[in-house]
Amino acid sequence: MIQKERFMRFALCLLLGLYSIGLVSYTLATVLTAEAACTHCFKGEHGFAGGKGPNGKASTSTNRYVNVGYIGGTTSPNRFTGTDATNVSAAINTAASAWNGQVAEDNTSHTNYSVRQTRSANDVNVYVGMVDSVPGNKNACGGIDVQVDQNGNVTGAIMLLKKDAVQHLTPDQIAKIIEHELGHFFGLADIGNNSTGQCESIMDKANDASCT
Ligand SMILES: [Zn+2]
Repeated sequence: MIQKERFMRFALCLLLGLYSIGLVSYTLATVLTAEAACTHCFKGEHGFAGGKGPNGKASTSTNRYVNVGYIGGTTSPNRFTGTDATNVSAAINTAASAWNGQVAEDNTSHTNYSVRQTRSANDVNVYVGMVDSVPGNKNACGGIDVQVDQNGNVTGAIMLLKKDAVQHLTPDQIAKIIEHELGHFFGLADIGNNSTGQCESIMDKANDASCT
């Protein structure tokens, strides 16, 4: 749990970031998961119904588009620029491919989410921003703030990546963090607390100290 005052600052910071990319703000009823603090994800919330597909194609219950966009521009405190933007963009694509190609233990079942990167602010469902430290856990590489409306429907999310991780990990390693956080967006909880870094599942928690 994070303290209220801290959360308020977090929310304010994010709202400032969002205004700068022209997104209409909405009330944030949040489930914050910062790694090593995340013991649950959804508790009765309804999974994200899906966003816009390619060429405005609508999502269906079996094919729900999830548009991921990193925060750019010039004013948001959570923006990515230069090499950081290049790397996070590559990492988003890698994480999207990983989820889209993922099959269940029966080797055939697919998740009903279809993840893709977008640079169109109107289409973004999951924003990715950069922070000096993730609220709730200063050692976490990432965290995700899932937004839920008053009816319990997941409407979107803001994923935060730790600057130090973005700047010292490879795009493939950053992709693993994004992939893991997207798992939370889909409603998956952390499993175990892997301290070896030899994670068998993307939802295993990595060792904070190694931050990979
Ligand atoms: Zn997690």
